[in-house]
Parts: sequence; C-alpha cells; structure tokens
Amino acid sequence: MSVPREATIKAMELVRMSVAKARLLEPLYRKSLPVHHEAVVIGGGLAGMTAALELSGQGFVTHLVEREGELGGNMRRTRYLLGGEDPQERLKEMVGQVEKQPLIKCHLGTQVAGVEGFFGNFVTTLKATQNGGAETRIEHGTIVVATGAEELVPTEYLYGENERVLTARELEQQIAETDLDGIEQVVMIQCVGSRSDERPYCSRICCQQAIKNAIRLKEKKPEAAVFVLYRDVRMYGFLEEHYKKARELGVIFLRYEAEHKPTVAPGDDGRLVVTVHAPILDADIKLPADRVALSAAIVPHADAKELAQHLKVPLNANGFFLEAHLKLRPVDFATDGIYLCGLAHSPKSGPESIIQAAGAAGRAGTILARDQIELDAALSEVIDESCDGCAYCVEPCPYHAITLIEYKSAGEVKKLVEVDEAKCKGCGVCMATCPKKGIMVRHFKLHQLAAMVEAALQPPPEYSGSSSKTGPNDLAMLNGGDAESPA
Ligand SMILES: Cc1cc2nc3c(=O)[nH]c(=O)nc-3n(C[C@H](O)[C@H](O)[C@H](O)COP(=O)(O)OP(=O)(O)OC[C@H]3O[C@@H](n4cnc5c(N)ncnc54)[C@H](O)[C@@H]3O)c2cc1C
Repeated sequence: MSVPREATIKAMELVRMSVAKARLLEPLYRKSLPVHHEAVVIGGGLAGMTAALELSGQGFVTHLVEREGELGGNMRRTRYLLGGEDPQERLKEMVGQVEKQPLIKCHLGTQVAGVEGFFGNFVTTLKATQNGGAETRIEHGTIVVATGAEELVPTEYLYGENERVLTARELEQQIAETDLDGIEQVVMIQCVGSRSDERPYCSRICCQQAIKNAIRLKEKKPEAAVFVLYRDVRMYGFLEEHYKKARELGVIFLRYEAEHKPTVAPGDDGRLVVTVHAPILDADIKLPADRVALSAAIVPHADAKELAQHLKVPLNANGFFLEAHLKLRPVDFATDGIYLCGLAHSPKSGPESIIQAAGAAGRAGTILARDQIELDAALSEVIDESCDGCAYCVEPCPYHAITLIEYKSAGEVKKLVEVDEAKCKGCGVCMATCPKKGIMVRHFKLHQLAAMVEAALQPPPEYSGSSSKTGPNDLAMLNGGDAESPA
C-alpha cells in the first residue's frame, strides 16, 4: 500500500532529528596502527595446512601450530575417498609442500597458551606439549582457527561391548587392510549420536562415508550383502551419483524413523542381529550381521572452549566455533583479525574444508597486506571527570575492550576504566550501562541523542499533500515543486 503522506512526514521528522544532532557534532579523528605481516594458523589438519599454504603463497610468514607430533589431522586416518582416490598420497604431497615452503614455520607438539592484543597486533604465547612446556611468543597480525573435530565414541548399539560393532572409520580401516574373510553381511546404522536431542545437528559426512564404505566393500567382495539403515540420505549436489552407484552395486537402503531406532543384539550363532522397523511395510525386519558399522557423529574437541577463551571468540550451542554471520561473514569471527575454517566450524568433507580454508586465508590476507590499519572514529571515550571506576561497563562489553585501572593521585588510590580502541566497536553497551555518564560513544553522545529525541517529540510538521494515493501534489513535492519533471 502506498502511503506517501505518512512517508513524507516520517522523512521530514528524520531530517529534523538529524539537524538537531548535527548542531552538536564534534570533530572525529581516526587513529592508525602498524600491522605485523605474519599469521598464526592453529591446527595442522587439511584446513590448517591449506590456510598456511595460501597465506605463505601470498608472501606472509605463517606459523602453523599443531599440538600433535605430525601434520594431517583426521585425514591421516582416512584410507580412501568417495571417488576412489588415495587420500594418503595427497596428504603426503601437501605435507611435503608445507615442509618445503620457507615462509611456513611449523610448531609441532605445540599449543596456544595465551593470546593478547588485537587485529594487526596480536601476541600469541605458544607452549610445547612436552619437554617441560617451553614457551615462545610470536607477534603477528591475524589468526586462523583450524583445530578440527573428532568422531564420537558411541555409547549405544553394543559399541565397546561386542567387537563386531565398529564405527564407520573402523570399518573403513578393516575394508582397506583385510581381505574381509568371514564378512558376508554388513549393516550400517546412520545418524548415531547426530540429529538427536543432545546433538540436533547433521554430521554431514556420515552418509558420504557409509556410501564410500559400501561401494568399496561391494567392489572388493561383490557377494557380501550391505544394508544401510538411514533416516534421510543426504548425498547433496553431485554426491547423488555415488548414491546411485551404491544402489546399482546392490547396496540396500532401508529407512528408519527417529522414534523407532534399530536395535542390535547378539545372535545364537555368534553373529549379530539388527532389528529395524520399516515404516513402509510397518513391520520389523531382522538382519543377521557379521559387522555393524555405526556412522557416529562428528563432535567438537572437549578443549575447544579453552581455546575460545584464549581468543575471546564464541562457540555455538553444539560446541563448534561460531562465525560472525552465516551468510555475510562466513569465515570471520566477530572479533576482527580472527578467522575460522574446517571441522572446527562444523562437520564438513575434505574438499569443503579446503575451500573454506582458502576463503579464511583470503580474508586474513586482507589485513596482512596493509601497512597500517585505520580504526573507526566513532568509538567509546572515557569522560575522566565523570568516571569513578565503578566498572559496571567492563563485564557487559561484548568485545572485552574495557579494563579497570588503578592509579595514585595525591596519595589516594583512584579507579578509572580505559578503552582499548582497537577492540572497541562503538556498540554503546558501555554507555547504556554507565550510571554516571562516565563513558560515551563519540558521535552518539547522550546529549546528541537527547537532541534527536526532543526533535522527534515535537508536533508533526505541517504537510499539505494528499492523504493516501500518490497524486500530482505528492510528486510535485517530492520532485522539488515540479510535478512534470522526474527527480
Ligand atoms: C570420522 C571422520 C571421517 C571422515 N571421513 C571423511 C571422508 O570420508 N571424506 C571426506 O572428504 N572427509 C571426511 N572427513 C572430514 C575430513 O577429515 C575433514 O574435513 C578434513 O580433514 C579437514 O579437517 P580439519 O583440518 O578442519 O580438522 P582436523 O583434521 O581435525 O585437523 C585439526 C588439527 O588441529 C589440531 N589441533 C586441535 N586442537 C588444537 C590446538 N588447540 N592447538 C593446536 N592444534 C590443535 C589437531 O591435532 C589436528 O591435527 C571425516 C572426518 C571425520 C572426523
């Protein structure tokens, strides 16, 4: 519905409010800070190595921090890929590239013990996981978090109680390393630990992994029967081709519903018996099995929280690192200069981790490529004569930009807060919390906002245009008085 009268009145009011504020404006100045042209990448898996190669390829010294004694992360335990390729060959090639790149400094067996500073000027303390925990301090401009995730250790379907029950990764290992003697029938159970009340998310790679194993098994031993018990087959995009291939090879897919999860019990002959309720038949099907493979959830590392605290970045409800904005800033944290990629962010396949890592490195490069970073001008400013150091503003600051300081004046200990302008985003939470008008955001100071509110509360401006539909009068007014000429 067109309401030109109301819209014009609103525009007039907005202009009046802006003019009221403009009368009280003060000059704003931007500060500049130098940038350390080095990066720290935390985690030496596929994502971390990709980010390090990309950053060093752009010419920046990159510190690759890996807590294990070896690079590679989860890929080290992957035996074959969905398309049949050998991941170990590719991994070897990638590790070779990392080791050959003189700009990448690998810190193996090392963890992050502390992070200070802000984008362009971080100081990270690294601590060796062994040999007495020797510490090193690195000055750098950006951080990429690529610390990965791990496979859940299942607590259901007799896992850990019966050796015929494996995770999908353990089955992958058996398929790759043994001649599958005595394996006539395999049942795979999907969504183990995922899409549940405890972990509502989809682990995304389990369908690919199960189908990968099913295809490899059928290719190696065509007479073996393979059943995949699924809730939804999530072979998105071109992955659909592999699902079709599995079906063509004779893999049988049976759907189960979350309310009727399959059960696994030991059979009389030493094999297992899996019972699944097929919703289409509305009947229970009993499947003898030589192996039951559980597609276990991908879960964040238990110590991700500790790293998040060092970096002052958030985790989501499931414990994965949380990006600043799903669509607009998908590889950034809300804190400037820190980026994320790979499994640390959410479950994803190797190729997806590589693409995301290249994106994160690209974003990190935008900071490292500058000689100076220019800070915003509209930031918080402490009004020394009003601040009494009550520190109400310190805790609520979402960017950890405010600290309480104590100093001596005329023999007395006084308190005051201090703003780190490199961390402040000018959000105004401190100003809203302060009971003493002791901290204000420049350009949005209380008296400037009060003038706008006062202007808004004045009676509505006179308006002589028509009331509802757009007519010649309205157009005349919006076009500066001439209804015939377009604006
Ligand atoms: C069980 C499982 C099966 C998978 N199967 C497939 C598959 O079949 N096909 C496929 O394409 N993808 C698969 N993936 C996904 C694939 O492995 C990942 O997408 C890819 O390896 C990228 O991982 P990453 O580098 O993000 O994390 P990771 O491989 O987990 O590497 C993270 C690295 O960071 C290190 N680290 C962790 N915390 C710290 C810390 N605080 N300080 C320093 N270092 C730290 C770890 O030691 C590790 O080396 C699978 C993943 C899992 C878990």
